[in-house]
Amino acid sequence: MLLSIVIPCYNEGENVALFYGEAVNALKDHLLETEFIFINDGSRDQTLDELKKIHKNSPYNINIINFSRNFGKEAALLAGFNSSCGDYVAIIDADLQQKPSYIIDMLEILKVHNEYDCVAAYQDIRKEGKILSFLKNCFYRLINKMTEVDIVRSASDFRLLRRNVINAIIALPEKCRFSKGIFAWVGFETYYMPYTVEERANGTSKWSFWKLFVYAIDGIVAFSTVPLVIASIFGIILFLISILLLFVIVIKTLIWGDPVAGFPTLASLLLLTAGIQLLCIGVLGQYLAKNYTESKNRPMYIVKEIICNKETLKDETEQ
Ligand code: UDP
Ligand code: MG
Repeated sequence: MLLSIVIPCYNEGENVALFYGEAVNALKDHLLETEFIFINDGSRDQTLDELKKIHKNSPYNINIINFSRNFGKEAALLAGFNSSCGDYVAIIDADLQQKPSYIIDMLEILKVHNEYDCVAAYQDIRKEGKILSFLKNCFYRLINKMTEVDIVRSASDFRLLRRNVINAIIALPEKCRFSKGIFAWVGFETYYMPYTVEERANGTSKWSFWKLFVYAIDGIVAFSTVPLVIASIFGIILFLISILLLFVIVIKTLIWGDPVAGFPTLASLLLLTAGIQLLCIGVLGQYLAKNYTESKNRPMYIVKEIICNKETLKDETEQ
């Protein structure tokens, strides 16, 4: 039984060696055949050098996929999946916010419960600000209302998946990937395991508020067309209101003559309709943009170099 551990790394120079040390510690009593797949996602610090040192000195099977630039965590995960050979594939961050020992707990769960194909860790205590937590709650409520899939709010990307789930995920050809949605979309039975998120060992989170906001929009656009329906409903409602207004104006003119036109009312109505129109065009634009990206069919990432010590890594140069 082979376990693949996929670790996306972006500017994690100070963390990768620490992570590797902890992971080896967690695995050493379990006699598992393990391959580590580190994806260096265009780091600008010493991440690659540190990974090379690990590769040189490790008795484990260490694979390093070095991207030509930063393509983002989604691309890094896909590269890891594409290259993995394990019967089980674990996804874990390099910053030690997720303790590698949980992977063993996840494995135990999948070994005992044949009915489950995936174990997803969720944070039992959330260590984030109230406003961010509230906004995330709103997002999950919104996306779950709009899509056919059910995305569990606290479930993270920290997961262990069986090979059949990985194969299903790899088979999806889309380029605009929203992993949380994809995990839910492919189905399979998921066991939700609580875990405590740690403080980052070193460095800072790569997710600014703006990045999270864009990611949230991407998620909704990737999994739901409901915003388009809402745009059409806006259109219908405005059309009905305008017919009603026209009717009222005609009747008023016929009965009381032509009173002074209400310029402020007219101006605000104009602004309102223009605003709604722009909003709807924006929504439409989002879908068009995604379509544009998909139709260009560019690879999600470009690999500059692969460093591996066994032939287990699939022959993969570019996706
Ligand atoms: N990451 C990546 N590419 C990116 C951003 C992040 O590979 O463009 C990696 C990062 O190195 C880490 C994981 O994704 O291993 C999670 O990132 P981070 O810790 O910044 O996210 P957070 O834990 O704050 O959600
Ligand atoms: Mg983190």
